[in-house]
Amino acid sequence: MATRIDGKALAAKVKARAAEEAKGLARKPGLAVILVGDDPASRVYVTGKEKDCAECGFLSFEHKLPAETAQVELLQLIEQLNGDEDVDGILVQLPLPEQLNEEQVLNAIAPEKDVDCFHPFNVGRLVIGDPVFLPCTPAGVMEMLKEYDIPVQGKQCVVLGRSNIVGKPMGTLLMQADGTVTTCHSRTPNLAKYTREADILVSAVGRVGLVTADMVKEGAAVIDVAMNRNAEGKLCGDVDFAAVEPKAAYITPVPGGVGPMTRAMLMQNILTAAKRHQGMD
Ligand code: NAP
Repeated sequence: MATRIDGKALAAKVKARAAEEAKGLARKPGLAVILVGDDPASRVYVTGKEKDCAECGFLSFEHKLPAETAQVELLQLIEQLNGDEDVDGILVQLPLPEQLNEEQVLNAIAPEKDVDCFHPFNVGRLVIGDPVFLPCTPAGVMEMLKEYDIPVQGKQCVVLGRSNIVGKPMGTLLMQADGTVTTCHSRTPNLAKYTREADILVSAVGRVGLVTADMVKEGAAVIDVAMNRNAEGKLCGDVDFAAVEPKAAYITPVPGGVGPMTRAMLMQNILTAAKRHQGMD
C-alpha cells in the first residue's frame, strides 16, 4: 500500500519556515492581489492566498476591479504596483474576463515582482537553470519528492500535460534534478505505454479517471496535480486513487496533496521577492 504524501502537513511546514525567515526582514513582505470580476472560484483562491499571507506575517493588498475593466486601466494599476515600495509581489488572479489580453497583462508585471513565475523573463531563467522564482505548482511537487526522499536522479519521470503553468515547468524541474523526462499530451497515442515505465508519474491534465491502475508501474510515485469534480461534485484528481493506491509506493491525495503545496510555494516566492527587494539576497 502506498505512502500517502501529506501535502497539507508539508505546506504548513513550508509556510512556518517562510514566516520565521520573514521575521528577520526590516519590512514585512507584501503581496498585491488583483481580482477582476466576481468569479466565485477566483474569489475563493484570492481569499486563500490572503489567509496564507496573514499566517506567514506577510501583508496583502487586494485590488478588486469590476468585470468590465479595460485593458489600459489594468495595465495602469500594474504599472503603479510595479513602482510601489511596499509591494514585493504582484499576482493577477486568472482567468481574466474575455476583453482582457492575459499575455499582455502578465508581461506587464515587473519580473522581480512576478511571484507566480509566469513572466517570459522568469520562464527563461528557469529553463537555463538559473531561476529567481520557481513556478509554484511544480516547485510544490519537487518539495514533496524531497521531503519523502523520493529519488529523481536517473529515474524515469513521465509528466501528463504540457501547459505553461504546470506540465512544461514540471518537466524542466525534473530534468534539472537529473530525471529522464517524457512529456505526454492530448496528441500522445497510447499513453499507457509511457506511464507504465514511470518511476515518477505526474498527472496534470484535468480529466477524472484518466490514470487507471493498469497504467501505473508497481512501486511508482504517483503525483496527481489535477483538480476536477467527479459526477457527485466531489473534488478529485486524474488518478483513480482507490485502485492505484495499493500498487504505488507513494501517492498524493486530492484534496490535500499538491493544492496546499502550490499555495505554500507562493509564500516562498513572496519571501524571495521581499528579500531581493530589501537587498538581503
Ligand atoms: P491545461 O492548460 O488545460 O492543460 C492540460 C494539459 O493536458 C494539456 O497539455 C493537454 O494537452 C493535456 N491533455 C488533455 N487531454 C489529455 C489526454 N487525454 N491525455 C494526455 N494529456 C492530455 O491545464 P493546467 O492549467 O495545466 O492544469 C491541469 C490540471 O491541474 C487541472 O485539473 C487544473 O485544475 C490542475 N491544477 C492544479 C493546481 C494545484 O495547485 N493543484 C495548479 C494548477 C492546475 P494539449 O497541450 O495537447 O492540449
